[in-house]
Amino acid sequence: MPLKHPQTSNGSTNVNLSLPPVSMLEGERVPRHTLPKGELPPDVAYQIIHDELMIDGNARLNLATFVTTWMEPQARSLMDECLDKNMIDKDEYPQTAEIETRCVNILSTLWHAPDAVQATGCSTTGSSEAAMLGGLALKRRWQHKREAQGKPTDKPNLVMGINVQVCWEKFANYWDVEMRLVPMEGDRFTLSAEEAVKRCGENTIGVVAILGSTFDGSYEPVEEICAALDQYESDTGIDVPVHVDGASGAFVAPFVDPDLKWDFQLPRVASINASGHKYGLVYPGVGWVVWRDADALPEELIFWVNYLGDNMPTFALNFSRPGAQVVAQYYNFLRLGFGGYAAVQGYAREVATRLAGEIEKLGPFELLTRGDALPVFAFKLADGIDHYTVFDLSNALRARGWQLPAYTFPKNRTDLAALRVVVRRGVTHDLSDLLISDIKRELAVLDKQSAAVHTSENSTSFHH
Ligand SMILES: *Cc1c(COP(=O)(O)O)cnc(C)c1O
Repeated sequence: MPLKHPQTSNGSTNVNLSLPPVSMLEGERVPRHTLPKGELPPDVAYQIIHDELMIDGNARLNLATFVTTWMEPQARSLMDECLDKNMIDKDEYPQTAEIETRCVNILSTLWHAPDAVQATGCSTTGSSEAAMLGGLALKRRWQHKREAQGKPTDKPNLVMGINVQVCWEKFANYWDVEMRLVPMEGDRFTLSAEEAVKRCGENTIGVVAILGSTFDGSYEPVEEICAALDQYESDTGIDVPVHVDGASGAFVAPFVDPDLKWDFQLPRVASINASGHKYGLVYPGVGWVVWRDADALPEELIFWVNYLGDNMPTFALNFSRPGAQVVAQYYNFLRLGFGGYAAVQGYAREVATRLAGEIEKLGPFELLTRGDALPVFAFKLADGIDHYTVFDLSNALRARGWQLPAYTFPKNRTDLAALRVVVRRGVTHDLSDLLISDIKRELAVLDKQSAAVHTSENSTSFHH
């Protein structure tokens, strides 16, 4: 039913919100790559863009993304109210600035910073910006130490697993730091303590440990990596700090793996980043970076902006950016509390581990992970299944609206192709039952197709 619209001044109702007006369809086409000559009525412009965006997939069936696709309506209202607030205008929007500080304090406490009241950290546009800031602080600290020793500072390197997210490749490229990548080996798809230490030296600004890996959802062994670096320091005198890329896991582990030691409880952990818009449960884009204490963040990286006549420290790549996401993060903290986050992440893990088990039972698959670290798991075709590929299955499911990405692993496991499922808020047991029945249906189709190809090949050779 079309929405009713007020009469225009010439007396005709000119907008029907269900379809662009016929005059638009018959006349000139709307230019796509140049500005239109004049104005369009707002409803028409809205409808044209709204219709075009229908082609984007259904976010709820997107099992590829880690990013939040559902928030409560109250969070949406707050975001609407804050759309016009610029995060950097701390003078004009002091309460938004105050709320950002509270969020940093909450995260510092959650991640066991030694003195959460003196918390050092900030919001960012996501983990990528947070990684840049964390990496820069590591680089500066290393430079200061080297300068104090009268040693050269022109060859910094950063040690990490080849499974790092692309933001670390950007960091290395943009800030001239050599990446020392640990390749995968056999069934080891993440960084190990032993391989990390092997690549460290006096030019190492830090080791990045991921909680958890985007390839398969597994946690890297942060505690073991720290212990190995403790040993390395006592053997060589070289002190290598650790940055934890907790893009997803820093909002998961504290709630469902309380015994896992991965955060500031380990003295070697200097900084942690997390994506508020992943398991922080906020719409994109907000991220966080927190340092263990003020010493971990070199003073000269901080800029001072005017705040109510006072000076307020900031550390960021951007200047202007929206305040709405930070407010939405605070809404979640207040609304859910520790118990609420534990319930949401606990349910996600329950759905992930059950779904992984069901997929394993189907027969043609082998699980690489089981969804028991991040609520994320990867699986491949079992040995001997070679009449279709994981890419075929991914495409087939796409036709049913599911986005289930297939991808090959990096060096030295480029032979391995897998599918990955990300379970996040909104992916329910019901939805996973639907996925299982669609996988069954598509597997049957793929089997039939390959049998048909096989028969026609045979009959062709018969005729020859
Ligand atoms: C998603 C992700 C990033 C990048 O985070 P954005 O918030 O999308 O910028 C970095 N590292 C890991 C491990 C991730 O999962």
